[in-house]
Amino acid sequence: MFSSMRLVSLLAVAAALALAGAGCGGGGGAATTSDAAHGASGKHSQAGASGAAGSDHAARRVPVLVAPPNAPARSAQVPVLTYHRVAPLNAVGITDLKVEPSTFVAELAALHAGGYHTIHQWQLFDALYKHRTLPSKPVIISVDDGYIDDVTRILPALQRFHMVATFFVITGRMSEPGFLDANQIRQLDSAGMDVGDHTAHHVDLRQLDATQLQTETAGSRRVLERVLGHPVYFFAYPFGAFDDQVVGAVHAAGFTMAYTTAGGTTETTTSPLTMPRVHVGRAETPSGLLSLLGGA
Ligand SMILES: [Zn+2]
Repeated sequence: MFSSMRLVSLLAVAAALALAGAGCGGGGGAATTSDAAHGASGKHSQAGASGAAGSDHAARRVPVLVAPPNAPARSAQVPVLTYHRVAPLNAVGITDLKVEPSTFVAELAALHAGGYHTIHQWQLFDALYKHRTLPSKPVIISVDDGYIDDVTRILPALQRFHMVATFFVITGRMSEPGFLDANQIRQLDSAGMDVGDHTAHHVDLRQLDATQLQTETAGSRRVLERVLGHPVYFFAYPFGAFDDQVVGAVHAAGFTMAYTTAGGTTETTTSPLTMPRVHVGRAETPSGLLSLLGGA
């Protein structure tokens, strides 16, 4: 009797430990300096598939993108394009933020023919902080808001041209129709795309109190890291809206590269949390896009 009760209690302890492991994304592997500095997110970086419970997603190991202290001022000419939806203009949603699928493909073709090379966030980071050489005519394609188009139209088009992009997703919309769910976000990650954070609820961060601001930055980052099973270092401000308090919260949350909607193509180590991007609207043409980038 005693032994069977003891067995039951041991099993209960084992089950509790297993749950605790799953809840924080598991463990194992050697922590890096950055992992230690970022606490819970560091655990997720070691999590492997258990951090993405319920899927067969094998978590990637991603480069640690934490700037060294007193990094020298350095800049790189890297246009970061901003798309939102790629969908027929008669589909539901905000038409101003939509690009026709055929136009999107034509724009990718123009970039390809123009000799542009899409790069990852870590490549921009390495160029800025490690003085690494970038491919010729580097460009980052970013896609905001995490619409379903990301996997149905944008990813296949990118793969056709062997291109990569950064997808900024809204973590509070993963269960809403029309938006990426967790598995689809992992699909982008597994396909070698960069996935960044675009807050939990896509609100103007300047309007929030300190607690809400933390939920939309650090809280959202934790959610996304649990989905992906690895750290996330890049962020995009909803509506491009920020102030000093917002930037402070983004920094405190552990993001090291954050994007606005202010136009510009020069990224710098002096303002890594307010990096400019180039909006690509529905009226843009392939040749117009090339001229936005500084000429074909
Ligand atoms: Zn947005």
